[in-house]
Amino acid sequence: MDFDLSPDHELIRRTVRDFAQGEIAPVAEQLDRTKSFPYEIVARLGELGLMGIPFPQEVGGAGGDTLAYALAVEELARVDSSVAITLCAHTSLGTQPIYLFGNERQRQEWLPRLCAGEILGAFGLTEPEAGSDAGNTRTRARAQDGEWVIDGAKQFITNAGTRISGLVTITAVTDLSAAGGGSGSRSGGEKEISNILVPNGTPGYEPGEPYRKMGWNASDTRPLSFTDCRVPEESLLGQRGAGLRQFLKILDIGRIGVAAMGVGLAQGALDEALAYAKQRIAFGRAISKFQSIQAKLADMATEIEAARLLVYKAALQKDAGVDFTLTAAQAKLKTGRLAVRCTEEAVQIHGGYGYIEEYPVCRFYRDAKILTIGEGTDEVQQMVIARALGA
Ligand SMILES: Cc1cc2nc3c(=O)[nH]c(=O)nc-3n(C[C@H](O)[C@H](O)[C@H](O)COP(=O)(O)OP(=O)(O)OC[C@H]3O[C@@H](n4cnc5c(N)ncnc54)[C@H](O)[C@@H]3O)c2cc1C
Repeated sequence: MDFDLSPDHELIRRTVRDFAQGEIAPVAEQLDRTKSFPYEIVARLGELGLMGIPFPQEVGGAGGDTLAYALAVEELARVDSSVAITLCAHTSLGTQPIYLFGNERQRQEWLPRLCAGEILGAFGLTEPEAGSDAGNTRTRARAQDGEWVIDGAKQFITNAGTRISGLVTITAVTDLSAAGGGSGSRSGGEKEISNILVPNGTPGYEPGEPYRKMGWNASDTRPLSFTDCRVPEESLLGQRGAGLRQFLKILDIGRIGVAAMGVGLAQGALDEALAYAKQRIAFGRAISKFQSIQAKLADMATEIEAARLLVYKAALQKDAGVDFTLTAAQAKLKTGRLAVRCTEEAVQIHGGYGYIEEYPVCRFYRDAKILTIGEGTDEVQQMVIARALGA
């Protein structure tokens, strides 16, 4: 077992770290305060080849692997979670479904522009009555005259409503024949759910107003509505009826990215807490010399390192082509909780200043909580892990 990163992996880590510190850190507080989507930063991420890291060069990607992707996400989240989730949702959720399940025409039409960061991709699974219970999708698509006619609503969707949003892949019930012609259930009680690509600008597809959120303030999250929205029959992604299976696969992959966000955010909190503790004087000495502060810093550093190894293990398993579902769920569960705990400790170490928005740890604390909810809640991860254990 080799714990050293390869020169290529070191290079991407260093490149993203320098970019995050040099170009994101100076504007992160302002973007968060003004709830402004980071258009210029996303354009720079595209120029640096970071908007399509794990996809082959033949389709416009950077030809990197999952570990390279995780390292980049970690370094971004260390400085700014809004930028990190924008890249993460775009890559794991927006682009990945087209790469994995798209036909040749769909791949050629969308992947080069997505990988270049010219347009953003979004993933629309969650609905008002279908979150953890994703199979309870109510959005419907009926086939009519060579088109899919979509009616329904999605909620909490990332990247769908910016000026550069290009498309959303949604789940929709495509079998309306059974159960009284309306419920979308098959006679066996099982819904036929398919994935459909809907370009932004399609009449009948409306991204709603952005939510007012606790954190991730500079990222784009909105409800989406579909009313008599018509897309060509060829907009089906993958096989008809395979929608839920495809999305579960996408979520497995996405968990590695979100877990990397948790490690990065926790590390960012530790960086800030350590620097502050070394310069804050109380009772005539730096507070970093007090044992109880040292214990907090030591625990944070130790847990972050353990969690980081779990994330890298999941990434390496995926790249080796072995089953990574269990490790990805464990990494997601571990790192979400870790980010919440470390950001809280970092605020504590800052005392009253930690409660003031000028200090990054204040934003980090607000940004952490979603990591125990999005991309499958902690309770859902526990279900996935318990199932893998055979419980
Ligand atoms: C900022 C943000 C961005 C998001 N981005 C996207 C996106 O881009 N695309 C997308 O599709 N979705 C997105 N989501 C949605 C997110 O994935 C869901 O919010 C999440 O999966 C939880 O679903 P829910 O909110 O419906 O909660 P629910 O499923 O209603 O859960 C409520 C509570 O019940 C618990 N619970 C539910 N079922 C069980 C069970 N069987 N056993 C034990 N406990 C259970 C949950 O763990 C949770 O604690 C985003 C959400 C947010 C807030």
